[in-house]
Amino acid sequence: MRIALDSISQYSIIRSLLYVENENLYIVGGCVRDLLLNVPLTDLDVVLERKSLSIINNLEQIFGVTKKTLSQFLTFKLKSPKIVIDVAQARSERYEHPGALPEVTPCYDIVKDLKRRDFTINSMAIQLYPRTFYLMDPLGGFEDLKKRILRVNKQGSFMDDPTRAFRAIKYTYRFNLYLDASTEREFENAKKSLPMVSFPRIKREVELYAAEERRLLMFAELGKRNILFHWNNMFDTFDYDLLVEMDRILPRKQSVWCLFLIPFGLEHYFIHNKDKFTVSERRTLEKIFGHGTPEITVGALHKIFKDEAPEGVRAWGLLNGVDERIIDKYITERGKLNPSISIQYIIERVKDPKLSREFYEKIEEALLEGIIRPGEEKEFLEKLLTRLC
Ligand code: ATP
Repeated sequence: MRIALDSISQYSIIRSLLYVENENLYIVGGCVRDLLLNVPLTDLDVVLERKSLSIINNLEQIFGVTKKTLSQFLTFKLKSPKIVIDVAQARSERYEHPGALPEVTPCYDIVKDLKRRDFTINSMAIQLYPRTFYLMDPLGGFEDLKKRILRVNKQGSFMDDPTRAFRAIKYTYRFNLYLDASTEREFENAKKSLPMVSFPRIKREVELYAAEERRLLMFAELGKRNILFHWNNMFDTFDYDLLVEMDRILPRKQSVWCLFLIPFGLEHYFIHNKDKFTVSERRTLEKIFGHGTPEITVGALHKIFKDEAPEGVRAWGLLNGVDERIIDKYITERGKLNPSISIQYIIERVKDPKLSREFYEKIEEALLEGIIRPGEEKEFLEKLLTRLC
């Protein structure tokens, strides 16, 4: 089947690709699926049957690429302010053992490259050069897409790579798809190899869910299918009501990923695996799991959370039964905080950086509590100094 040029060239990023000439160049995977569904493209995957560095240079110029990285699996990631483009050479994969990352080798054949992918709807390509605009669809992905079916490319797919179970749930809810029977069976296979998957790979999938429009349904399905528990049995709870609340209070962005694991039993896992989290995630989680008090003032909140993003404060409030109006008030007031004296001023006055920092925080707390009004900071500092003497 040939794709009408009109439907391709409605996307300016694909139009730009038409300037590139290279022996056998394709757009593949999710961007072909999205193009056929007529939804906006978020990123672009390009496959070349043969390696070409000159095309990478061309793409850099055409798209005004600001960052280029050679990532895993022989792919280049090109980032420009508007789009991320992954350029890869056609390749085949081999899994050393279930749950491992694949070993990839160039295969010089787009059809082989398409067949090694996860789902039929993600295994289509459009040939952009030569300019045939043929839809390469060796597994019937277009038909599945029209019938709204999510189908794995091969039996044992989730055994090789159980993160595909996360991907299956994500696509099901994002595009309103039905799992065909062979894909449903793969969830059993995933159970066997999930324990072999590393923490960063699970983290990546959870991050992606956290930014999805229908993330509540996706996380709920993870819970229903006990997928996190099969990965690590410390995730042995699933509190749906808490999940609903998390979904309500948290922004739709990847960085809140770990807060979404709380309804699944993150506290237990965290206690035993602190080293797996970044410093700031660790700091946030330690505060969140530290016990709080429902009766708390905005000033006292500031003492604990002055360097914390609003989502961390909200999650803490939720878990500790703090009145949401206090949390909202604190976040709003903190956003407006602008003491009329700087920390530099206090250091010059006090001559002790550590003490100056403490005084600055006290001034902020006093402003938040309404103990002083804006403009009264200098006077308050003098009082603090007198008390010290
Ligand atoms: P999204 O819109 O969520 O980014 P996508 O389909 O573009 O969806 P990517 O993770 O960007 O997903 O991957 C690009 C393509 O690479 C997929 O469409 C699929 O063909 C292939 N792919 C990605 N991850 C896997 C995997 N774990 N197993 C097999 N193929 C994969």
